[in-house]
Amino acid sequence: MKLLHSGKVRDVYADGDDLLLVASDRISVYDVVLPTPIPDKGKVLTRLSLWWFEQLADIAPNHVISGDDVPAEFAGRAIRCRRLDMLPVECIARGYLAGLGLSEYRAKGEVSGVPLPAGLVEGSRLPAPVFTPTTKAALGEHDEFVTLDEVRTQIGKDLADELRDLTLRIYSRGAEIAAERGIVVADTKLEFGRAPDGTVVLADEVLTPDSSRFWPLEQWEPGRTQFSFDKQLVRDWARGTGWDQTAPGPEIPEDVVALTRARYIEVYERITGTGW
Ligand code: ATP
Ligand code: MG
Repeated sequence: MKLLHSGKVRDVYADGDDLLLVASDRISVYDVVLPTPIPDKGKVLTRLSLWWFEQLADIAPNHVISGDDVPAEFAGRAIRCRRLDMLPVECIARGYLAGLGLSEYRAKGEVSGVPLPAGLVEGSRLPAPVFTPTTKAALGEHDEFVTLDEVRTQIGKDLADELRDLTLRIYSRGAEIAAERGIVVADTKLEFGRAPDGTVVLADEVLTPDSSRFWPLEQWEPGRTQFSFDKQLVRDWARGTGWDQTAPGPEIPEDVVALTRARYIEVYERITGTGW
């Protein structure tokens, strides 16, 4: 197998015509991968993604071939998938205001060309979910917001509109399921590719803590930074060490590792309603 790409968290291998997306236990905060792994994190992300692909199968076909037919060394944390011609758009849906969406709103009153009402604050729920695509930036560069019209120019109107519709439908379904289990999906990023026959296929990972902002509903309170389900403990601890947020990061102490692992598992258990 050939290693095609090693991201902060995942490694991508080619296996014949297939791809293997392998999720490691690496964790990054402030875009720096820390030296200490979080045991089982890769398995949680993989299992959660597989679960979502199934839930969403009636909205969009997906790239999954198998979560079982993978080399033993990657068992449980890899997905064998169809290699697609990826569309060069990060398809983001936002139901709440946070992160880069919040910065953009504060600067312009809109995100990706979608005007938003005045007076929103950090964590506000939007009147309706919005499609706020970004470019897929090359390594070391930042993704930039693009308008739907720009996406239409880039890939054609029909395809752009299809991506927007699929993204909003998937977000809405996901947010609805998660809300029943006490989790707010503030935003999420999806990636789509095309099969040889032109069909648009949902790819990459779906509605995981790495691709989405999950907040515990019971703690949601607009007007402040929301508690992030997965990484808050590590971020808070890291800030307390006085680390300057440049690589290499500090080793994470055992108790923070154990609590963080428990949070990832809790997200999985709450969303899927099944035990780990
Ligand atoms: P990082 O997440 O560290 O910022 P990244 O997004 O470039 O980096 P990963 O997410 O680790 O990298 O790697 C997954 C890569 O595989 C992405 O480039 C994604 O677009 C691509 N990919 C996902 N599914 C498929 C697929 N079915 N066919 C082809 N490429 C895919
Ligand atoms: Mg990625």
